[in-house]
Amino acid sequence: RNEFAGLAAVVTGGASGIGLATATLLADRGARVACLDLNPEGVPSPLLGLAADVRDDGSVRAAVAAAADALGGIDVLVNNAGIGARGSVEENSDEEWHRVLDVNVVGIARVTRAALPHLRASAHAAIVNTCSIAASAGLPQRALYSASKGAVQALTMAMAADHVREGIRVNCVNPGTVDTPWVRRLLDAADDPAGELAALRARQPTGRLVSADEVAAAIAYLAGPLAAATTGSVLAVDGGMHGL
Ligand code: NAD
Repeated sequence: RNEFAGLAAVVTGGASGIGLATATLLADRGARVACLDLNPEGVPSPLLGLAADVRDDGSVRAAVAAAADALGGIDVLVNNAGIGARGSVEENSDEEWHRVLDVNVVGIARVTRAALPHLRASAHAAIVNTCSIAASAGLPQRALYSASKGAVQALTMAMAADHVREGIRVNCVNPGTVDTPWVRRLLDAADDPAGELAALRARQPTGRLVSADEVAAAIAYLAGPLAAATTGSVLAVDGGMHGL
């Protein structure tokens, strides 16, 4: 219950959806937690909201340093900030490719680079990246997003190999469709939101969306002491989608 007592965690994209659910769960289990986000204003206490843009190296360095100062170090890093993109390969411009890869992939490299000196000083260091079932499912109309998440999965494996001998574990979660403000925004923008929601539910064999709390529980498992022997692994939280 209190497996994160005495530990400090940083969650990017921690002001909404999966990130906020994860930050809340880690705090419930004893961690001191900083949420790094473009819009940290609504982050509830005791979580510490810090402004950061993962596209900007200076912003990331300042926020990670501020988090380490305020929390007394960093033991757990959750690289969760991410954005979506619709379209086939014909439909996304070069600018869109650069914009999405900059957040979803290079953003993880920037935050990790800034956090590594703090993680090296921890006896319980763990990184969890929020990837997606899109990394391997071949989703229609998600070419760029899928490519970005495929890169996140590959990056997770490479980071795990690079840092295992320093005692830093690196894993990722692959959620299916999760009921978060992001998905609600997509439904609001749809011509037929009810039909679209039904299609998203039906795509997962469980017949329902995944909850942000269910993804948070998987992230907390990978970040915590129960997963001390696990690094370089992918945990699907997708209602059975990856088995299809
Ligand atoms: P969300 O939009 O509810 O939350 C994302 C948060 O990231 C927001 O608070 C936003 O401000 C922040 N953010 C965006 N760009 C940022 C930047 N440049 N710098 C700092 N913060 C930034 O989304 P969510 O659904 O909770 O998604 C979180 C992660 O989960 C993403 O990486 C997403 O790809 C992944 N994911 C989501 C789903 C889903 O169905 N919702 C499925 C699989 C994977």
